[in-house]
Amino acid sequence: MTELRLFNSLTRQLEPFVPVHPGEARVYTCGPTVYNYPHIGNMRAYVFADTLGRVLSYKGYKLTHVINITDVGHLTDDADAGEDKMEKMAAEKAQSIWDIAKHYTEAYWADVKALNIRQPAHWSIATDFVPAMIEFAKSIADKHCYQLESGLYFDTSSVANYGALARAKTEDGEGRIEEVEGKRHAADFAIWRKTPEGETRQMEWDSPWGKGAPGWHLECSVMSEALLGLPFDIHTGGIDHREIHHPNEIAQNQARCGSDHSGAKMWMHNNFLIERSGKMSKSSGEFLRVQLLIDKGFHPLAYRLMCLQAHYRSELEFSWEGLQAAFVRLKRMVMASVALQDAQPATTVDDKRIAELFERFDTAISEDLNTAQALTALEELLAMKKVDAGQKLLALAQMENVLGLALLTTTRADLRVRPKSALITAEEIEAALTTRKEARAAKDFARSDAIRDDLIAKGIEVMDGDPLGWDWKLDI
Ligand code: AMP
Ligand code: ZN
Repeated sequence: MTELRLFNSLTRQLEPFVPVHPGEARVYTCGPTVYNYPHIGNMRAYVFADTLGRVLSYKGYKLTHVINITDVGHLTDDADAGEDKMEKMAAEKAQSIWDIAKHYTEAYWADVKALNIRQPAHWSIATDFVPAMIEFAKSIADKHCYQLESGLYFDTSSVANYGALARAKTEDGEGRIEEVEGKRHAADFAIWRKTPEGETRQMEWDSPWGKGAPGWHLECSVMSEALLGLPFDIHTGGIDHREIHHPNEIAQNQARCGSDHSGAKMWMHNNFLIERSGKMSKSSGEFLRVQLLIDKGFHPLAYRLMCLQAHYRSELEFSWEGLQAAFVRLKRMVMASVALQDAQPATTVDDKRIAELFERFDTAISEDLNTAQALTALEELLAMKKVDAGQKLLALAQMENVLGLALLTTTRADLRVRPKSALITAEEIEAALTTRKEARAAKDFARSDAIRDDLIAKGIEVMDGDPLGWDWKLDI
């Protein structure tokens, strides 16, 4: 097996993966803030983290993956003066924060399942860790924090090289952070946000710095330490976190454990999914979430495939045409895989051609998760003729475990996702097509054309002679 090399945002270099604890891989992923549905861009971050986890498992490491659920503390603008996203949504909807959190956590988990993202060892819920956050803050308060009327603030000048991950100079570049009266440096951030006099928040806890709620950055330092121990191997998140959230986590970890200690050995970031018309904004009417793709007739794994076609560090532009192309590619893979499923999987691969192909797959995935090349190897495997089906199936299962496209469990019928707006069911379509076949056999072309026209009117394109034998598709 090729050595696994990953791009570490700390050094901006590819580095071999060397675990902190031999044989183990401990990974922490910044999870969603559950004030709204995740958009498909957010889900790209979890497809990436899942693929990383799958690769680590495939490489033989015992994986402990933690993804947190942020149900307190994340402010509307990453600044210290905004509102808590959860409080704001709860007020807008006139619901309790706990109900909001439950609803959107479940919606997020549904997307996780739809995208075949494996369950992590722990879903850590931020509000379960507030006492631990207070303890952590107490342990660093004297040396690294100062108190203002609005709460306890972290002094970013108290640790070495603050902001190194972002490559930001300490003072400049932090204009994004709205000024809070009395802050010593623009980049200083709230560890504890005191509830203003005369206000009550739905979520507040007693602390040495007054009744209030923890700062968002504190959560991840505390939960990663509690569940993985510091230092652990890899911390992941979207590229936006490289600028503020993760530098702040690192500063807290340095305060807790010493300045040469960033908390995780590697920090990895996925680039953004871009959508130019603004449909990814959670406030837009038809906002781009996994359920919208399903409602439009796409299988959610077509979106996973779309993510895997790009390198995780590249921007990926979303388009419906791109998704459609990924869907067709997925259909091809599923059909080739279905054709293999009656074979008995072999226990070893000794066929030279399969072994060579597998080596290419391994090399690709080992070089900072080159999933695009790995997919090509998988397709070549599926297309291979005159090889032992059992060995082919074994190699497919191994590749599949890494890419997570559910190729061994998805059927042709599963891929027929019925759009919400469809006027006809899959069974009705199949029945119409059978009648049409009979009409054609009887040379009753008027009838066969009438059936076809009727299907077109209902949004079904009949695909006579489709090389994949796909017979019909929804006109999406
Ligand atoms: P949030 O719920 O806002 O904390 O975001 C959840 C995750 O999605 C974080 O890791 C973000 O960095 C990531 N993220 C946000 N927008 C995008 C995007 N357009 N493409 C990829 N990842 C994103
Ligand atoms: Zn985080």
